[in-house]
Amino acid sequence: MRRKLAAGNWKMNGTKASLTELSAMATAADGAAEVLICPPATLIALAADTTPDIAIGGQDCHTAASGAHTGDLSAAQLADAGASYVILGHSERRADHGESDAQVRDKTRAAWEAGLTAVVCVGETLEQREHANTLDIIGGQLAGSIPDGATAHRLVVAYEPVWAIGTGKVPTLDQIAEVHGFIRARLERRFGAGVGRSTRILYGGSVKPSNAVEIFAVPNVDGALVGGASLKATDFGPIIEALN
Ligand code: 13P
Repeated sequence: MRRKLAAGNWKMNGTKASLTELSAMATAADGAAEVLICPPATLIALAADTTPDIAIGGQDCHTAASGAHTGDLSAAQLADAGASYVILGHSERRADHGESDAQVRDKTRAAWEAGLTAVVCVGETLEQREHANTLDIIGGQLAGSIPDGATAHRLVVAYEPVWAIGTGKVPTLDQIAEVHGFIRARLERRFGAGVGRSTRILYGGSVKPSNAVEIFAVPNVDGALVGGASLKATDFGPIIEALN
């Protein structure tokens, strides 16, 4: 009942030449799993026209629908460019731009108002994990970053341990299972069993073709949010296939 989702976060990578990679992903994207690419905002409109089997998303949005906010983009503008998703609260934005849970919650609300599905990111730092605070941190981020009114259509949660992003380090499968089970329980408790059971929870952090199959077999892992390995079809294709 939860359609698997292979999501790629291109971060600040990619130019128009990268659109050939999207075309090359089309065959893998033609299967059972949903495929999403979140390119830099400069490529959203072009990417949305590249292949109908790949959904396109933004990597951030402002809380306001329009106005005097130089350099920012609203959720409505992302939707107008062809996006149907937006990543919110990624740890790089929380670190580089000081985004708080409250800001992520307001951005999520703005995304919903524009008809976008929000991929809300949570995850602990290495220090927090070493102090055995992981579930407290994740619980606080979930409570603070997700507004009331979530539905399985409007929300995807991505668990991305900060220490696993771009490092080649991956939690043990038991650790992934523990956090994903915890997130599932929190979603069920807050939004009810129906929404909680049907909302997708992605794992992110050093997912590669070589570890995707075992990670996708973990209970409550409904797909992945992939950084580096989503840039090339030769890497992302096999990750998509592992979900198909
Ligand atoms: P990597 O897959 O490069 O570790 O990045 C994960 C990530 O941050 C996706 O949002």
